Amino acid sequence: MFKLFDVYSRLLAYHGPQGWWPAETAFEILVGALLTQRTTWKNAARGIDNLREKNLLNPVNLALASEVEIADCVRCTGFFRKKAERLVGIAKILVQQYGGSLQHMLKESTTEELRERLTSWKGIGPETADSILLYAGDLLVFPIDQYTKRLVNRLELNSGDYQGLQARFMSQLPDDLTVYKEFHALIDKHAKTFCRKKPICNQCPLREICKYPVRTTS
Ligand code: SF4
Repeated sequence: MFKLFDVYSRLLAYHGPQGWWPAETAFEILVGALLTQRTTWKNAARGIDNLREKNLLNPVNLALASEVEIADCVRCTGFFRKKAERLVGIAKILVQQYGGSLQHMLKESTTEELRERLTSWKGIGPETADSILLYAGDLLVFPIDQYTKRLVNRLELNSGDYQGLQARFMSQLPDDLTVYKEFHALIDKHAKTFCRKKPICNQCPLREICKYPVRTTS
């Protein structure tokens, strides 16, 4: 079985530091995590820029804005009416219960309690919650996205469920926020450059530890 830290080291050596998450505030990270669902980061970034231009990238202003105006800003991300409704709902919770500050909320409880709270909000599933905890809350939680599942599944032809895979990452990696943040970003970068739906195995920096090319060429 391959070692996850070895995978991390190879990806870092090849792709270099990714410097994720590209955002100015914790709330912007949450907005990005929600907008990037079912679309590319490029589209989510356009939606964020549109919200920023209208000064809607903070919970207080967002909670007061109309859903129609927000939907217009995030139209480019798909499912825009639903995403607008969810953003307003979350902004209202933050304003009513946490003084309009996601950072305040993220400092208030244990990681497990925060995760439960976040996943109780409409539009926030386990992967989105874990991304928010890691990148906005600076908490040691490893998000498992589709790219991570695909990569592990190809490396050893078996990936397991969300919790099992997450537990594996978190038991094998050092307790280091930089490693967690970089590794998640590197996996996404790798999935877009080499380990795509149709992978480019012959130039991949993980080729010598990956079982997938052997299976598909034998
Ligand atoms: S060798 Fe191919 S399947 Fe394996 S990680 Fe690289 S691109 Fe993905």
